[in-house]
Amino acid sequence: MDWTDPEQVKQYYQDYYQTHKEQWSEYNEHRDPERKRQWDKTYRERHKEQIAAYGKSYRPKDNEWHKQRRKGPDGDYVRTYHKEWLRKNGTHARIVTALGGKCVRCSFDDIRALQIDHVNGGGRQEEKLFKNTYQRDKYILEHVDSGHYQVLCANCNWIKRDEENEHRWNMRE
Ligand SMILES: [Zn+2]
Repeated sequence: MDWTDPEQVKQYYQDYYQTHKEQWSEYNEHRDPERKRQWDKTYRERHKEQIAAYGKSYRPKDNEWHKQRRKGPDGDYVRTYHKEWLRKNGTHARIVTALGGKCVRCSFDDIRALQIDHVNGGGRQEEKLFKNTYQRDKYILEHVDSGHYQVLCANCNWIKRDEENEHRWNMRE
C-alpha cells in the first residue's frame, strides 16, 4: 500500500467502504443529532453494566488523587484555584452573568451571595424535576433567556420569600 499514490488511496477507501458498509452507515447516522441521541441511548442501555463498572473503577482512584493533591504542598493553591475557577466558570456563575451579574433589587454584585430566583415562584416544584443541582443548573442555563429567572442577593431573596409567603416552613406538606 503506497499512501503517496492518490489512486491507490482512493481504491483503498473504496474497498474499505465495500467491506464496512454497515459500520459506515452506522457512523453516518451519528451525524444527525437526533439519531445520535437515540444511538447513544441504545448504546447505554445495551452496555449498562460495563459503563457502571467503568465508572466504579475510575471514581475512587480519581477522588483519591484529588484528595492527595488537596492534602499535599499544593493543597491551598489547588483549593483556592478551584474555588476561583468555579466562581468564574461554574454553571452558577454563568447563569448569574447571563442574568446581568447583580441583584435586580439592590444591585449587590458579590457572586458568593447571589442566587437564582424564579420570577413567578415555583422554584421548589421545579427542583423536584431534577436529580441533582448540576442537572438543574444546566437546565436553567439553557433556559436563561426565558424570562423565568432573575438574580437576587440572599437578603432580597429572603425578603421576597417573606413577601410571597414562600418560606420552606409553609411549603412542608
Ligand atoms: Zn439584593
